[in-house]
Amino acid sequence: MVRIPARSGRLRTHFGGDIKIIGTIFQLASKIEAAYFTFMKKVPALRIIILGSGTSAGVPMIGCHCPVCSSTDKRDQRTRCSILVSYNDKSVLVDTTPELRLQAVANHVDLIHAVVFTHGHADHIFGLDDVRRYNTLLGSPLPVYAADATMRTLQKAFSYAFIRQNETGVYRPELEPIIIDGPLDIFGVTWQPIALPHGRVSVLGFRIGNFAYCTDCADIPAASRAMLQNLDTLIIDALRPRPHPTHLSFSQALQIIDDLKPRRAYFTHLSHDARHADIERDLPPNVRVAYDGLILEILSATL
Ligand SMILES: [Zn+2]
Ligand SMILES: [Zn+2]
Ligand SMILES: [Zn+2]
Repeated sequence: MVRIPARSGRLRTHFGGDIKIIGTIFQLASKIEAAYFTFMKKVPALRIIILGSGTSAGVPMIGCHCPVCSSTDKRDQRTRCSILVSYNDKSVLVDTTPELRLQAVANHVDLIHAVVFTHGHADHIFGLDDVRRYNTLLGSPLPVYAADATMRTLQKAFSYAFIRQNETGVYRPELEPIIIDGPLDIFGVTWQPIALPHGRVSVLGFRIGNFAYCTDCADIPAASRAMLQNLDTLIIDALRPRPHPTHLSFSQALQIIDDLKPRRAYFTHLSHDARHADIERDLPPNVRVAYDGLILEILSATL
């Protein structure tokens, strides 16, 4: 509580009084600024939850007892890659991993309003059936955004989920397919798709305001890099220290980060090759390693 002196409206004639008034004004300004940032933190422009940060096999891997798979550091337990993007009281799920139910319960994802897919690999789609719970909670079909090839994979694997339901009490997902063929407007915000090479498959990264998510890529080509300038936060594929034919290695990801110069970047889609703490020790301060449950708030997002 700032106490303003009774005679604060009048400048005193002696020097000490002026200093006191200036000090009081400064204190008040600092308190207003602190209150502003506290308020802003409660209502960030964009809120990202890392639901999963692991590679396709997950970490720990079945049947592996290496130091990373046996680590007691929670950040080394990496479920399959997915994020939740929230703004304007809406939440958009990016990919539906085989651990979707566990991720939703652990992170209190009580409702989502749409699903966006990066590509059709098993580790990114095979939890799709779990969204039926959100159909029940919403009481309506759920919009699902995917590129044409990914949508065909989804409709083949989950044909029953794309049928309009006329009966009640039938517990299966009800999805409304929307093909991505350019920038999307999802709940009043533009999602810019970004083409990324991933072996024989083309993956979509997404830019939302000054945040971007680029998982499952072996490179970011020049045309895509042009769409990733002036970022506040970039989440980027970084599988392991050694090169891999369809994913970026740590040093390749760092080179791209150095080129794009986001304010901060996070590695994702990690294998069991290195512990969280050991990877972070060798990274520059503006590059960190994502872990399951990490929340990123982007206060300055230009949506
Ligand atoms: Zn993947
Ligand atoms: Zn292992
Ligand atoms: Zn993939």
